Amino acid sequence: MTESSAEERVEDATRLEGRHAVVTGGGRGIGAAIALELARRGARVSILGRDKGVLDRQAKDIMRESNAEVVAVSCDVTDELSVVEALATARSAFGTVQILVNNAGQAESASLVETSLELWSRLIASNLTGTFLCSRSVLPEMTAADDGRIVNIASTSALKGYARLSAYTAAKHGVLGFTRSLAAEVAKTGVTVNAVCPGYTDTGMAVAAVEKLVSAGRKVDEARVLIAKSNPRGTLIAPDEVASVVAWLCSPAARSVSGQAIVVAGGDVRS
Ligand code: NAD
Repeated sequence: MTESSAEERVEDATRLEGRHAVVTGGGRGIGAAIALELARRGARVSILGRDKGVLDRQAKDIMRESNAEVVAVSCDVTDELSVVEALATARSAFGTVQILVNNAGQAESASLVETSLELWSRLIASNLTGTFLCSRSVLPEMTAADDGRIVNIASTSALKGYARLSAYTAAKHGVLGFTRSLAAEVAKTGVTVNAVCPGYTDTGMAVAAVEKLVSAGRKVDEARVLIAKSNPRGTLIAPDEVASVVAWLCSPAARSVSGQAIVVAGGDVRS
């Protein structure tokens, strides 16, 4: 084999030409980086989220940067009807869904006694119920085709308990349990189901965590250092570092990887 054909073979195994990828919460942050990476690798991408204006702008940016086809679809992942309608709209644009990235989610810290039922229910709904509803909607077409990829964006909070984050931690542990159970259920098919567990990542979510510490009396710089320090390397993760792991899991190269939790935190968070 010549050197160039070996390179092409490596590249081909991670290309996504002709695949229809759905990314929830694709309008900003990690979801936008994932949508861009999948588009760059050749997928046609539907980005789902609650703010159509934000999604439309993001879809245009991704199309400009990748030359791929992208559609923006309104969806609240916690609402069963909204999920069914959004996926129907996505299918009418690009056909059967082969890749689903359950990225939409919300985080908010609070001590347990400060955790209202509203906060608890909202974090469980946006992180966990949304993952269930979107996965259930696409699973029949994936198993019928004996081909599919579901990647759930969990968190290092799926693997360890952080103080003052019980609702989020419970939701993300739930996302990981859901991932492992569904992976076992479809193990004999060509569908894989995995979780990616980022540490603190440089998005609006990390900014909000810094603001919360500042409102509790910390200086801004001190708060930034504290947030970054929860990652073993002591620095925030970049959204494109998460996106490249997700894109690999979505590729033909990862067909034998399922039921896994892949940590993207610059180290082992459990040691
Ligand atoms: P972000 O707040 O920038 O983006 C979250 C996205 O999810 C937004 O587009 C938001 O509109 C969308 N969303 C929230 N609720 C929704 C709903 N009900 N329906 C549809 N869309 C909804 O945050 P991010 O950092 O990009 O987070 C993306 C994912 O990564 C989340 O699941 C988050 O829990 C996870 N994560 C983030 C970090 C971090 O430090 N930023 C670390 C670990 C895991």
